[in-house]
Parts: sequence; structure tokens; C-alpha cells
Amino acid sequence: MDELDGNLLEAWERVWARCEADPDEARRRWLRSGNKMLKRPPRAWCLSVRASDHRIGQTYGYIEDEQAWRRGGAHAVVLDGWHIQELCRPVFIPKPGVLLKEAAAILGRDPATLAQWWMPERAKRGPGRSRRDGSVALFEEITEPGRVLGVRFEPARIHRSRGVPKAVVWTERAVDPGADCGVGPHALWGTLWHWFYQRVDEGMEVELERVPRKRQGTARDSAAGWSWVCPGRVDERGRRNPCGRLAHRLYLPLPMMTLGRWIGERRTLKVAGEAGLHWRPGQAAGLRAAGAGGGGMQLACARCWQVRSQTFTNDNGGWDEVIGYLSGGFLYGREVRKPDWFGYERKRRRKGGKEGRRD
Ligand SMILES: [Zn+2]
Repeated sequence: MDELDGNLLEAWERVWARCEADPDEARRRWLRSGNKMLKRPPRAWCLSVRASDHRIGQTYGYIEDEQAWRRGGAHAVVLDGWHIQELCRPVFIPKPGVLLKEAAAILGRDPATLAQWWMPERAKRGPGRSRRDGSVALFEEITEPGRVLGVRFEPARIHRSRGVPKAVVWTERAVDPGADCGVGPHALWGTLWHWFYQRVDEGMEVELERVPRKRQGTARDSAAGWSWVCPGRVDERGRRNPCGRLAHRLYLPLPMMTLGRWIGERRTLKVAGEAGLHWRPGQAAGLRAAGAGGGGMQLACARCWQVRSQTFTNDNGGWDEVIGYLSGGFLYGREVRKPDWFGYERKRRRKGGKEGRRD
């Protein structure tokens, strides 16, 4: 159990005791457990499949109309549960690392994307003759907080080729291949996400439509990867809601593991005048529909699922939400002591007001 778990439990016991003494407080919190935010799946508990993942069609998934695919036209992709698992499985490339091109293939990305968005700033100019001008030396290991790739430049001849030195990269931590810049959920969510991919029902099979994406702002209509056509989803009442939006990635929310469920959801809050309210440990309707078993797993766009992302940049919003989710709405952020290691972070460096490319 880590520090955050301990702090959560401590707060839970304290607030629970207060609720037992104060029925109004108990009712208020019980009502909060069914609130709107908690019905929306947090991004951290969703698997995501990128439309432009280069591994689709190469290693995973079946392309129905291969000619259309090679021409760059719309086509259908069939993904089974095992393919989805593999596409969502965190990637770890240990030191000494592999060539940038190989890392890109493992991650399903363009080498240019890795070089531009994933590598440390300092490494972008490549190696120089001296370190005086701030450039990097051959064999120097370059890492940067917040970036998932570390890099080292090696003479081309080591790699049996000629020309400029080659970038050799490794991952500093597990990479989420479906996330922007590969950065997985914030540390507050723990490391459970490393194993989320295993929860995908291997027996599932989906057929998805994929269409070429146009590069914005250029005269030529050059293709810039792919978009999914969101198939929509079946809601908790069993109705199919078609969608058709173009999406860079589709999400598959997983059932939440809340503190209430962990402690035992059968505990009852005693409320005067009522038989007692069974605590609802964050069982949002949408999340139940997505739940494992019953073949309920569905890939749909962020709008269909109303996926909610948390930010941890400046205020307490992200912290409050994570505590709300983890406790199923029972606790407020201010009631839980922040772990010592907790700090606000930005996934992407802000540079010249540009927040980075959405992919
Ligand atoms: Zn949709």
C-alpha cells in the first residue's frame, strides 16, 4: 500500500465516523456519489486505440479492403480482443535502447513524431562538435523530466551505416501507446493502468471504418494519418446511439475500482428516518455498461463516452476529481492529505504558446 492509499483510508474512516453521527452529512455524500461527473469515465480508466497507429494493418488487425488502404482511401478494419490488447499494452524499451526507427515501429508512430514530440529538447538539434554551444556529445545520455524517451547519439558506423550519427532511444518509464506523447495517467492514479489491457475481452470483435485525415493548412490535400468513424455506442438502457464523428482515437472505459468497492460496498450509512442508505461506490451507469462480462465492451469516441480528462497544472481541480473518483464521491480533495511526492505537472512543455500537436 502506498502513501496515497494510506491517506485515503485514513480520511475514509474519519469521514465515515462523522457520517454515522450526522445523518444529514451522510445523505449529502450519498447523493454526491451519483453526481454527473462520477458518471463520466475518467481518461485514466480508459483504454484508447489510435486510428493512425502504424501497427494497425501491419501487425494487428485485418484490413478488409487492402487496395483502398494502400491507395490511402477509406476502408474497414477488423480488430479482435487480442489485437486491442496488444495495441493498448504499455511499451517499455529498456536501455541500451534501439534505433529511433525501430522504436517508432514498436510504438506505431512516425520517427519524425518521436523526434519532435517525445525526445528531450536538448537532443533535437542532434550532436555537435563541442559542448560549448549547448549541443550534445556522442554517447551522452540525454533525458528530461516529463519526456518518456531518453536518447543517445552514436556514430553511424556502429550501426553499419554511413552519414550522421544515429539516435538510439529507450523509454524512461512505461509508455502508453494510445496517449499524447506516450505519457500514461498521472501518478495519482497509480500503476494499475499497466495491466488494464488484460481486461479487454479476448472474444470481442469490432469492425471499424477508417478514413484518411487531411493535413490542415496546406494547399495540397496530403494525407496525415487516419481517423476512425465512431460507431456510436449502446447506452445503459440498451439503445443504440449512432455517432459517425471522426475521431483520432476511440476509447474503451473500464469499470472503476473505487475505495468503497475495495473496502466492501455492503456497508451501510445509517440515516435517521430511513432504513439506511447503501453506499454507491461510484458505479456510474456508463461505466457499468462498459463493464467486463456480457460482451459490453465498446469502442467509441470521447464524446460518446463523455470521457473526462483531469489536469494537474495549477489549481486543485485534478486532485479533487481524482479523490472524488477513487472514493466514489465519498471524499473531497481537501479531506485527504496529499502525498509528499505529489506535484502539479504539465504533460507537454509549453513552448511559444504552442501546446503541441494533437494526434
Ligand atoms: Zn462517437
